[in-house]
Amino acid sequence: MCIRTSHHHLKWIYSTIHPELDENYNVCSYSNIIQDISDRKAIEELSITDPLTKLYNRRYFDQTLEKELRLAARNKNAVTLAIIDIDYFKKYNDNYGHPAGDQALIQIAQVFSQCLKRPNDYVFRLGGEEFGFIFSGFDREQTLHFLDHIRIKVEKLNITHSDSAIGDYMTISIGAHISCCHNRLNNNELYIKADEALYQAKLKRNNVIVTNQTKFEVMQAFI
Ligand code: GH3
Ligand code: MG
Ligand code: MG
Repeated sequence: MCIRTSHHHLKWIYSTIHPELDENYNVCSYSNIIQDISDRKAIEELSITDPLTKLYNRRYFDQTLEKELRLAARNKNAVTLAIIDIDYFKKYNDNYGHPAGDQALIQIAQVFSQCLKRPNDYVFRLGGEEFGFIFSGFDREQTLHFLDHIRIKVEKLNITHSDSAIGDYMTISIGAHISCCHNRLNNNELYIKADEALYQAKLKRNNVIVTNQTKFEVMQAFI
């Protein structure tokens, strides 16, 4: 558990409580052994965090996707995987320099973290200028609305990108796929579907494409 010390620092502690018995085997008191495990927790946290953006890293993505898919199957819930890619990012680096590119990655990561706030919402940096979201319980329309809101928020950061062929500011493209309760996908299948949606979004750029299994495809899958 996590506690706040008198100096307002947060500490992770591991507590083991033992009952003490009297001669009639009645509980007369308890002993509580407390271990400070803050260092161990800090190392665990570092191993799943991207150092630049402070988002979760690729390693944590793989295990989280598997866990969320299992949880959703049990709760008969839908899971969305969204893959986000910055448009013309290489040109931005070439024009404004790598450190400016890093700052843009940090700013965009902050927008993502602010938008994905519900329990079981996750944001990852998958690598380079590519990010991933995992969230549950949204149908196709809700997912589209939610992701488009994030796309607009990034555009509204007004990060000047004079070499972008799509506008004056830095933009993102998002591809997402929803694994629904009628036809469960595994990790890889869901990733491939979301990546295909991203490919479609990239044809236009500054764009969101959300796909889900159509009734026809679900029937086909069962034949
Ligand atoms: P597209 O619109 O098709 O997505 O084009 P793009 O230029 O965004 O994609 P491309 O894959 O050609 O280039 C990605 C660039 O991202 C190239 C690489 O230098 C840059 N990049 C990857 N990781 C980092 C990083 O940590 N910091 C910075 N500044 N740039 C990075
Ligand atoms: Mg890319
Ligand atoms: Mg890109």
